[in-house]
Amino acid sequence: MLTVVHEPVVVQVPAKVNLHLGVGDPRPDGYHELATVFQALSLHDTVSVVPAHGLEVRVRGEGSRFVPTDNRNLAWRAAEALAAHVGREPKARITVDKGIPVAGGMAGGSADAAGTLVALDAMWGLDLPRDDLRRIAAGLGSDVPFILLGGTALGTGRGEDLTTVLTRNSCHWVLAFAKGGLSTPDVFAELDRLRAKGLSDGPGDDAQGRRQPGLRRLGSADDLLQALAAGDASRLGPVLGNDLQAAALSLRPDLRRTLAAGERAGALRGIVSGSGPTCAFLCADEDAALAVSLELAGEGVCRTVRVASGPVPGARVLGDDHDD
Ligand code: ATP
Repeated sequence: MLTVVHEPVVVQVPAKVNLHLGVGDPRPDGYHELATVFQALSLHDTVSVVPAHGLEVRVRGEGSRFVPTDNRNLAWRAAEALAAHVGREPKARITVDKGIPVAGGMAGGSADAAGTLVALDAMWGLDLPRDDLRRIAAGLGSDVPFILLGGTALGTGRGEDLTTVLTRNSCHWVLAFAKGGLSTPDVFAELDRLRAKGLSDGPGDDAQGRRQPGLRRLGSADDLLQALAAGDASRLGPVLGNDLQAAALSLRPDLRRTLAAGERAGALRGIVSGSGPTCAFLCADEDAALAVSLELAGEGVCRTVRVASGPVPGARVLGDDHDD
C-alpha cells in the first residue's frame, strides 16, 4: 500500500502590543469602542497544518497545558469558519507551537486563529482574496485581522477596522511574562467597575512614585503617530498609553513592582500590554533592551523575560519568500 506523506504548511504568527489603547464606554452589543495602535512583535507562535480525516488541534510549548484543544480553541474555530466560507469539511490536523504567553494580553489565541486561516488557505489551495480572510478573521475576534496584517496599525471599532501606520525605525522591547494570566473580559469588567465608582488608580504607581493619570481616559493617538513617524524612541516613551492598565493593576497589584523594576533598569517606559499581565518595556535601542532584560531577569518580579522588536510582518507561510 502506498503511504502519502504530506509536508506540513507552516505559518509564523506574531504577538502584538498596544502602543495606545483607548477604551470607550460599553456599546449595546457588549463590546467597548476602541481606538488603538497595534504593533506586531518578533515573538511568535507557529501553526502547522496537514490533511487529516477530521479536525484535530494539538498545542505545544509555552503555557500549552492551559489551552483547550477542542472547539474552544480559536484555531479550531478558524478552521470551521474558513471551511464554512468555501463549503467544504474542516478536515485538518493543526499543530500550534506557542511562544506567545497564554492569556498574556499579547493576542496569542488570535494569532493562532490568523495563522490557521493563512495555513489552510494555502493547504486547500484556496488563494482567497485578503479581504475575504480579513472578514472571516473579524468574525473570530477583534485582534485577528491585525495579526493577519502585521506591522503597525491604527484600529477602531472593536479594533478590527485597520489603517496601516507609517513608522521610521524599529522599536526595541523587553517583555516580562507574569506568573498566571488575566482574562480579557474580566479586565474590561474591572475597568467598567472602576469607572462607575469613579475610583482612581491610586498614587505612586510609576517608577518615580509620581501619581499616574489612573482613570483619566487617553486622548487621541496623534502624538504617538507623530513620534512613530519621526522614529524617535525617546519621544515615543512618554506617549505610550493603555486605558486598561488601571484595571489590570487593580486585579494584579504585583505588576506595579514589575513596571517600576523595568523603568529602574533603564527602559524608556513600561506599560501593561493590552489586558495584561505581560508588561512591555520600550528601550532606546537593541543594546539597551538586552541590558534591561538581564537586569529585570535578576529582579524576580516576573516569570520570564524576552527581548523583541517591532514592527514585523503579519501571519505568513514560512518558505514563501525564500528567506526562511
Ligand atoms: P488578547 O490579548 O487577544 O485579549 P490574550 O493574549 O490575553 O488575548 P490568549 O492567549 O489569546 O489571551 O488566551 C485567552 C484564553 O483563550 C486562554 O485562557 C485560552 O483558554 C483560550 N484560547 C483559545 N484558543 C487559544 C489558543 N490557540 N492559544 C491560547 N489560548 C487560547
